[in-house]
Amino acid sequence: TMSPLIAGNWKMNGLTHSLDELSELARLLTTGEAPRALVVVCPPATLLAAVAAQGASSGIIAGGQDCHANASGAHTGDISAGMLADAGAQYVIVGHSERRNDHAETSDTVRAKAEAAIGSGLKPIICVGETESQRDAGEAESVVAGQLAASIPDAAEQHEVIVAYEPVWAIGTGRTPTLDEISQMHNAIRARLADRFGERGETIRILYGGSLKPQNAREILGVDNVNGGLVGGASLLAKDFYTIISAV
Ligand code: 13P
Repeated sequence: TMSPLIAGNWKMNGLTHSLDELSELARLLTTGEAPRALVVVCPPATLLAAVAAQGASSGIIAGGQDCHANASGAHTGDISAGMLADAGAQYVIVGHSERRNDHAETSDTVRAKAEAAIGSGLKPIICVGETESQRDAGEAESVVAGQLAASIPDAAEQHEVIVAYEPVWAIGTGRTPTLDEISQMHNAIRARLADRFGERGETIRILYGGSLKPQNAREILGVDNVNGGLVGGASLLAKDFYTIISAV
């Protein structure tokens, strides 16, 4: 069976002194019981090399938050998957709702980014999730199914990808779906993955993200077909993030 994965997404938070928090996380991870989950930290790109270097001895794996679909070229301000890998990343988040919204990324763009990630040896964490109005309209599962179909590249047949289900209305709001709603969606995602990728689809991790906290981690991470979590706010404090990792 696959090991669970807990990824912290620092978003646009983190300066050099945040590496103290990473040291504290490393201390907790190495002094306590060995974590049952793979631990990934996705800092801003400016800290990526430092996180990769500092995290290595404690098993913390570095990840990027986004990458460009192209390998190089005239794209001011963008960063390629190869650059992330060069800085020590092993994972990269693609298609986060904040990228889909703030930068008008479509699922086609997200798929191209995931392909670029795979091409550079990174494991893409491909994000999907419905808005509140889509859920209210009863469209949550069909929206997510559409995003999955268009965002996951065919290369997932041979290369590891991770799916993260993040209902947009649960991100940074303190609100979460009920355990039944999480279970229903994760089962639906699993079914789509199995339809498309057969047995391989059973081995693709499906993370839950959106207001995952120390207080709700144990019950949410215990839901069937929840194979880990993608944590925003609560990943910024080592103590809270460690509590979530330990809840697996
Ligand atoms: P919060 O945990 O802050 O709700 O953010 C979730 C998220 O977007 C992780 O990618």
